[in-house]
Amino acid sequence: MKIGIMGAMPEEIAPILEKVGEYKSTDIADNTYYEANYNGVDLVIAYSKIGKVFSTLTASTMIHHFGVETMLFSGVAGGINPALKIGDLIVADKLCQHDLDITAFGHPHGFVPGGSQFVETDASLRKLAFDVAKEMGVALQGGTIATGDQFVHNPERKAFIESTFSADALEMEGASVAVVCHSLNVPVFILRAISDTADTDASFNFDEFMESSAKISADFIMKMVERLER
Ligand code: SAH
Repeated sequence: MKIGIMGAMPEEIAPILEKVGEYKSTDIADNTYYEANYNGVDLVIAYSKIGKVFSTLTASTMIHHFGVETMLFSGVAGGINPALKIGDLIVADKLCQHDLDITAFGHPHGFVPGGSQFVETDASLRKLAFDVAKEMGVALQGGTIATGDQFVHNPERKAFIESTFSADALEMEGASVAVVCHSLNVPVFILRAISDTADTDASFNFDEFMESSAKISADFIMKMVERLER
């Protein structure tokens, strides 16, 4: 079993690379992919760079070039659901693209013909996450994650995303990775730790908490990897 582990930013995969210790680096299309073996599991690790386009490229490359059979994403997000505080973990049940808009033609937000408004993640990976959380005594929440090519730091945009998609958190890569994996029949799991709450002070909170939240998410992902079959 070959597992892909993606982040968007270097800080999101740094704790993972540190944990695996030794790896082989390969550069493809302006990204570096790190191949490692951890506890008998073959891993391909990479950060994509920020946003839907780069994360799509990285997810596709991991699957087509490296033969990744399961995809795990680890990173940070802005919280929408008030139950999510900075440092809390959210597992995406489903994801949507909040900035995809052909509503002019009568379609719902986030929908294009041939696609779907929401894309679901793999149920057995989600179950594994909740088992691991229970074992670790860590609080884990499931919910909807909205993805778009915007750093949201404004209450109106946040309210729009909450009311339109009933989203619990928002970020910039999850839905694109999930769409790629869904289309290519690769089970996908998206985990995020909250770095900010997408309000006017989001960029300050992000700068302060991004690294610590990225590590919370990465550490949890590695606990899951330890439980995956080899
Ligand atoms: N500080 C970075 C930019 C970060 S963009 C720089 O200058 O390079 C925010 C990143 O964290 C994205 O990868 C996104 O997935 C996630 N994220 C965290 N909070 C977010 C928010 N409020 N809105 C959108 N994405 C957010």
